[in-house]
Amino acid sequence: MNNPINCARCFSLTVQNGKSKLCPKCQKVDNAWLEIVLDYLRKRENRTATIVQVLNATLVNEEWIYEWVKQGKILQRHFPNIGLPCPKCGENLTDGVSVCSNCKGKLVKDFETVKLEDSHSVKNTVTYLKNHD
Ligand SMILES: [Zn+2]
Ligand SMILES: [Zn+2]
Repeated sequence: MNNPINCARCFSLTVQNGKSKLCPKCQKVDNAWLEIVLDYLRKRENRTATIVQVLNATLVNEEWIYEWVKQGKILQRHFPNIGLPCPKCGENLTDGVSVCSNCKGKLVKDFETVKLEDSHSVKNTVTYLKNHD
């Protein structure tokens, strides 16, 4: 299971190590930064810090925080305000969902509208074919 991959950060060729998509060098940097962020978050007064506060305090790369949340290295149940933004509206997401409940509702609606329109066009095509047989 040692797939050769390109490191997600420096693009050098490396071997996939577990879930990590980083070469050993970048992984080391990643771990060091994660430690800085976790150190900051572990302080009692920072438990409820938002991502913006963490960014300002640690100067860490914003995308890395999102990666850590996705990878479960920063647990949202421990730090309630560290949330991934909803890709649709920017609302903070809770554990394990890909869009917020608001947008999910809208997506389902959109999907149903598309389905409806699809069946209409199928009907129209059928009618058209019948009439021109
Ligand atoms: Zn690398
Ligand atoms: Zn949303």
